[in-house]
Amino acid sequence: MISKFNLGAFTGRTAKRLILYIILFSVLITILSSALQLYVEYQDEVVQIEQQIEQVQNSHLDGIAHYLEQNNPAQLQLLIDGLVKLPDIERISIIARDRVLQRTGEVMSDRVIDTKFLLYPTKSVDAKEPLGTLHLVAGLDPLYERLKQKIWFILIATAVKTFLIAAFILLLFQYLVTRHLNKISQYAHTLTLNGHAPALTLDRMPARRGEVDELDTVVTALNEMQTRLAQELRLREEAEFDSRSSREQLAHMDRVTSMEEIASSIAHEINQPLTAIATYAQAALRTNKGDERVPEALINALEKITEQALRAGEVIRTIRQFISKQASSRSEIGVKALLTSTSHLLETLESQYKVSLVQGLADERLTVIGDLVQLQQVLFNLLRNAMEASPPDSIIEIWVEVCGDKVSLRIRDRGCGIDAEAAKEIFAPFFTTKQEGMGMGLAICKTIIDAHNGELLFSINEFGGCDFTMLLPQGEKLVAEPESQSENKPQSEQGPVS
Ligand code: ADP
Repeated sequence: MISKFNLGAFTGRTAKRLILYIILFSVLITILSSALQLYVEYQDEVVQIEQQIEQVQNSHLDGIAHYLEQNNPAQLQLLIDGLVKLPDIERISIIARDRVLQRTGEVMSDRVIDTKFLLYPTKSVDAKEPLGTLHLVAGLDPLYERLKQKIWFILIATAVKTFLIAAFILLLFQYLVTRHLNKISQYAHTLTLNGHAPALTLDRMPARRGEVDELDTVVTALNEMQTRLAQELRLREEAEFDSRSSREQLAHMDRVTSMEEIASSIAHEINQPLTAIATYAQAALRTNKGDERVPEALINALEKITEQALRAGEVIRTIRQFISKQASSRSEIGVKALLTSTSHLLETLESQYKVSLVQGLADERLTVIGDLVQLQQVLFNLLRNAMEASPPDSIIEIWVEVCGDKVSLRIRDRGCGIDAEAAKEIFAPFFTTKQEGMGMGLAICKTIIDAHNGELLFSINEFGGCDFTMLLPQGEKLVAEPESQSENKPQSEQGPVS
């Protein structure tokens, strides 16, 4: 038990005051209890002397009266000589007719008990006249002397007793209270606002139900305070986080609005030259087609220019529509037609990145419900990203299959992939890892697919590259392969698109 005591606990201000009060109180108690004990001893001794005097009265008064009656001084002397030897009796005298007949002993004490007994004739019971007086003097000085000798012993014994009890109380106090207070104060020093500190427990028997004391109350209060502080902090952090994300969202909205304005004006500006290009190309075609002097390659080029300028105009129209949040058109689009038309758009990129597209189309009659140009835009974006991420001579696969009431189009590349942390942000606007990227492509793709009641999913595939899966509402299957589409054989059958 002692080994658990921390002597440092006795150097604190409270401990010092406690020790001082205990010492003062011990001294007071020592003095009071010693005085009381001395008084009791004094009373006892006086009673003893009085008992001796009473004994002389009871046992020897008749004998003395008898010898006095017989006028026998020798026997009287013998008797009082014997009596004077009793403790504390200092002098005995027999007085008759105002004369001291016999006397023995000397009065040595300053303080005495002086007692006189009348001596009556023993035979005459009703005698009125006393024969003489027995004068007995008991000295109190030896009693005081004895008490003086005892006083030190009483004082020291009481002091030791009181000191031992005080020390015991102090140790008990330290064991029961001070060491726990120390632990509570150390714990209070380690308290932090994050609420990670373990709950405070004291090194003592757990309190039984309904037997909690002040220390248990303090411990419970501290633990509850710690929990409340942590909760408050969490709430504050959440509020800060909310206000931070609101600020970020506002800033983002700001950027998106400016982007929309810029994109809208660019679309407007570009639309006019594009229309002019298409018109001039069409006019040139009309004038030169059929003229044998004009090389066929030029006619082909003019046709391509017209086709691409019209398509670019269509893309711009859709973008403007998308930006101005106008409702896009919905129709059943043959998946095969969607893939083929998008592949045409990618021809230049394919040769630039030296990758091959492979398509796996489960059923050529499959259709999806949506806006052709917007879906082309999504597909184009996903395929261009895949090409940019892929090493030369690698393959990019497009798998089409039915998933419940949806059609799934999966674009799988074998490129560099993306780490898990960045993957969480992949659809966030302005997220880009490219030096010249805008980070808007995937965000727009997702918005388009969401607006189609579909889903755009992302995962890392077994080759370490990326899988982007579009899930789009399935339309009615085509009854027969349309003319325009039948020209494009399924790519899975044809092999890679070059
Ligand atoms: P941008 O192409 O302008 O960066 P996107 O929104 O199209 O914007 O793409 C965002 C980011 O997603 C890209 O910077 C790239 O890090 C990552 N990413 C998209 N597709 C792929 C892919 N197929 N492989 C690896 N990373 C990709």
